[in-house]
Amino acid sequence: MDTLFTKIINREIPAKIIYEDDQVLAFHDIAPQAPVHFLVVPKKPVRTLNDLTEDDKALAGHILFTAQRLALELGCEEGFRVVMNCNELGGQTVYHIHMHVLGQRQMHWPPG
Ligand code: 5GP
Repeated sequence: MDTLFTKIINREIPAKIIYEDDQVLAFHDIAPQAPVHFLVVPKKPVRTLNDLTEDDKALAGHILFTAQRLALELGCEEGFRVVMNCNELGGQTVYHIHMHVLGQRQMHWPPG
């Protein structure tokens, strides 16, 4: 069965898309936790960070670099946060890896 994010990638579910290339899709989070909150999702449906393999190293770097470039394009040059939740204890709810990018507000530590 396709993941929720594969359905967004395939345009079966609408989303506010920011960027797309052959490897990733970036779109605004449906429940934003900051003035800027978007997700960078690989088109390859890797379930959790634990499922990444050696073969995915370039893809993982591409996700991070895309997050940085889009954060700057969306006005987060003063700072932003990236988050990847892994499994239940990590707070993951959608089992298709994704990088959250949050910006344009003060972030705090430790996170909840
Ligand atoms: P997780 O909790 O797995 O780290 O993050 C999943 C994120 O996906 C949440 O921030 C949630 O708001 C977002 N999300 C869930 N369903 C949808 C949807 O249908 N569209 C969009 N754009 N975001 C979604």
